[in-house]
Amino acid sequence: MNQLPFFITIPLPDWLTERLAVPMHLHDDEARMRFVIELSRENIVCGTGGPFAAAVFRAADGMLVAAGVNSVLRLENAVLHAEVMALMFAQARLGSHTLRTGGGIHELVTSCEPCAMCLGATLWSGVARLVCGATREDAERAGFDEGPVFAASYAYLEQRSIAVVRGVLRAEAAAVLDHYRESGGVAYNG
Ligand SMILES: [Zn+2]
Repeated sequence: MNQLPFFITIPLPDWLTERLAVPMHLHDDEARMRFVIELSRENIVCGTGGPFAAAVFRAADGMLVAAGVNSVLRLENAVLHAEVMALMFAQARLGSHTLRTGGGIHELVTSCEPCAMCLGATLWSGVARLVCGATREDAERAGFDEGPVFAASYAYLEQRSIAVVRGVLRAEAAAVLDHYRESGGVAYNG
């Protein structure tokens, strides 16, 4: 066992850092989802993690605020799901613990419906809208467990004024999950 660490660092993969160097505006759900699905595919191709990606956009003008890819295996950290990464980097960029500030309303776009942890993080993050691609069933088919997420969980978010849109470019998003499974990718819950 190593010594007790006093801080941790959470770098994005190099290829994603390069992708994000150019400012980007994407103006509708499909364009944003297409970008996120591309990142989820790239994360497998580059060998930097599982088949999941997410990004935070400013609602008003579609500015890409931050993006994340699943980094559980790369950084040996069970909480580093794509959504958590995207939310943490967005809040770091805005210098705020809530995305209801910093110059507008923000949305989280994720390549797959969030697991229990990420749905919780979405609730606390201050995003006003959640847009999902692949479904829980698609993730489970690839061997991933989404944990205790229920219809009531989504209803709870909507009661807290977080709009939820599911199934955007589902087939394309699910194809990345299927590819991961077929190529022998590791499912790493638990
Ligand atoms: Zn998650």
